[in-house]
Amino acid sequence: MRTTGERTKAVLAGLDETQREAVVAPGGPVCVLAGAGTGKTRTITHRIAYRTLTGETAPHHVLAITFTARAAGEMRGRLIELGVPGAQARTFHAAALRQLRYFAPRLFDGRSMPELMESKARLVGQAAAREGLRLAGTGVRDVTAEIEWAKATMVEPADFVAAAAKADRELPVEPAALAAVYTAYEQLKRRAQRIDFEDLLRAMVWALEEHPDVAEQIRSQYRHFVVDEYQDVNPLQQRLLLAWLGGREDLCVVGDASQTIYSFTGASADFLLGFARRPGATVIRLERDYRSTPQVVRLANQVIAGARGQHAAAKLKLVGQRPDGPAPQVLRCEDEPAEAAAVAARCADLIDDGVPASEIAVLFRTNAQSENYEQALADRGVPYVVRGTERFFERPEIREAMVLLRGAAHAAEAGQKLVDAVTDALSATGFAPGAPPSGGAARERWEALAALVRLVEDAVAAQTVPAGAVDGLPALNELLAGRAAAQHAPTVEGVTLASLHAAKGLEWQAVFLVGLTEGTLPIAYAQTPEQVEEERRLFYVGVTRAKERLWLSWSAAWQPGGRASRRPSRFLPADSAPASAPRTSNGKTAGKARRGLPTCRICGVALFDPTQRKLRRCGGCPPPDADEELLDRLREWRERAASELDIPAYLIFTDATMTAVAEDQPDTLEELGKVPGMGPARLSRYGPAVLALVGGALPDSIPEPTAGA
Ligand code: ATP
Ligand code: MG
Repeated sequence: MRTTGERTKAVLAGLDETQREAVVAPGGPVCVLAGAGTGKTRTITHRIAYRTLTGETAPHHVLAITFTARAAGEMRGRLIELGVPGAQARTFHAAALRQLRYFAPRLFDGRSMPELMESKARLVGQAAAREGLRLAGTGVRDVTAEIEWAKATMVEPADFVAAAAKADRELPVEPAALAAVYTAYEQLKRRAQRIDFEDLLRAMVWALEEHPDVAEQIRSQYRHFVVDEYQDVNPLQQRLLLAWLGGREDLCVVGDASQTIYSFTGASADFLLGFARRPGATVIRLERDYRSTPQVVRLANQVIAGARGQHAAAKLKLVGQRPDGPAPQVLRCEDEPAEAAAVAARCADLIDDGVPASEIAVLFRTNAQSENYEQALADRGVPYVVRGTERFFERPEIREAMVLLRGAAHAAEAGQKLVDAVTDALSATGFAPGAPPSGGAARERWEALAALVRLVEDAVAAQTVPAGAVDGLPALNELLAGRAAAQHAPTVEGVTLASLHAAKGLEWQAVFLVGLTEGTLPIAYAQTPEQVEEERRLFYVGVTRAKERLWLSWSAAWQPGGRASRRPSRFLPADSAPASAPRTSNGKTAGKARRGLPTCRICGVALFDPTQRKLRRCGGCPPPDADEELLDRLREWRERAASELDIPAYLIFTDATMTAVAEDQPDTLEELGKVPGMGPARLSRYGPAVLALVGGALPDSIPEPTAGA
């Protein structure tokens, strides 16, 4: 076992000089102002360990506040590794909840704590109805977001109208109506004896400010405070922090004003920057970036150098410490499915090259963007995990849509087109094609439903489902159920799909920032200069998640065959190396320049189109003698297997994969495994049957597959 002295030494060994200064600074206001990847989180973790090991404090006197429960868990894990178990690392809410539960009998006259509501939606809906306001699902979410903003910034219902005007809030309904719903919501909640998440913090503030005995006990327990990601603290959280401190000064905060990405919820970097100006505060600035290669760091510096407005003066320059890596690549795609396919193919290549799937992330601006990527990764057989949001088919509006479509199947009219029937059915959710509504939740919901409509259009175009409503709806419902089932499969270790907001504080070896078009990043409803600046910071957060490889992609059209009218995000660097190779005289791109990207096996041009990738042949090259007869047998076998297993045929193999098999005619499992779209699971399950068919066997001579075999 190591002695305390040895452990203390080890805690200091993993730090540079400036980080060490922050770690050994005596108790009192300490502020680390530093850019992404400079080791802020590492520094505060080591500071807790150092002060404990040197006997300056005991672990149970420390309260570390992190932004997410996951970050709290990671910090506790790190502290245990450093030899300091028992320090508390929690989010504001988790810490408040624990304390309030403990003191409830004293605070609530011997009764237990009022029940905490996980979601406000139901009561906000009721409050709106009481005020005669008709709100659809998204309306409730957007009104709720405003109530949350008000509570986080400590604006009471009576002051709402004036405060919202002053803060330039873009409200989903009239200000007076919103104030009325807010008032009614508070009344209904009180009557039901419930509290919401903000009440939890308020109650704790009240307990500390009005109950000296409670305050004394809490303050004698917690003597040293640490807050990570302090740039995104909101006024209510700040008030609680001050109440915990009760005039004491032992607080260490770390943050980066350039990563403020929650202003829209009421957070403000003013607390961080104000803290640094406090008399007597030790302020430490870190600039060495230990996370990313100099190539990524250069881009990050470029992005933030363009920042303007309020906190731009606080921007920090990063100095890369790691060895060189590949330059970030910008990729322009024809349309979104092609972009998703290109990203999924690249993920598969990285995994083949030995990069663990958990070291890869695909990050996007809005949660609705995940569907394309979930689908493309599933098609490639690449495992993935979705962070911070539901998977596409678990989204409430998609579940609702699937119920509506099942209902519509019974009422389909002869002669009606499938796509029209679908749009009709979805109108019951309030969805209308055309321009998306403004408002965060409303837009996200609209985009998810639009993605569903597009999925239907794609399926019709690919002839996966009949174009008419009568036959098309049952086929479509089967297809959707199959996809939902495939996407529901839980994964432990996989490529991370997450929004930029959910990626805060995290890092991966390879990062794909996708959907980088004007309208998505910056998002269309970011109108004021401050809102656009917050979008820039989001992009900066995204760029700085990458340790080594960074891909930035966007697509010119929304869907295949659509108008290529989109423009790349203004944040994309003008001079970054484009991933698309120079065009050759015949208008094709030369394959050599694109190492790692699939190329046409005949002419060598790089391939972005998913079907062409599966065939490994571009549209301009003639097919080699595809064995039509073999393809027919493969199709027949697939139909039989699909009906036997009761799953849609495409889940066995897509048409493109079968065409590739017919063209390649592999005769070993190893060769068959190289056919794009095959994947290890399909190979072990269907490989022998496919080889038998290639060898000339007739479909009905092949034993039928069994579920799960
Ligand atoms: P963010 O702003 O994104 O939250 P951060 O400033 O909190 O970033 P950390 O996550 O603490 O940065 O550190 C970034 C990476 O650099 C981590 O992998 C960390 O282990 C590593 N790192 C930090 N400091 C050092 C150091 N002195 N030596 C080696 N590696 C370091
Ligand atoms: Mg951090």
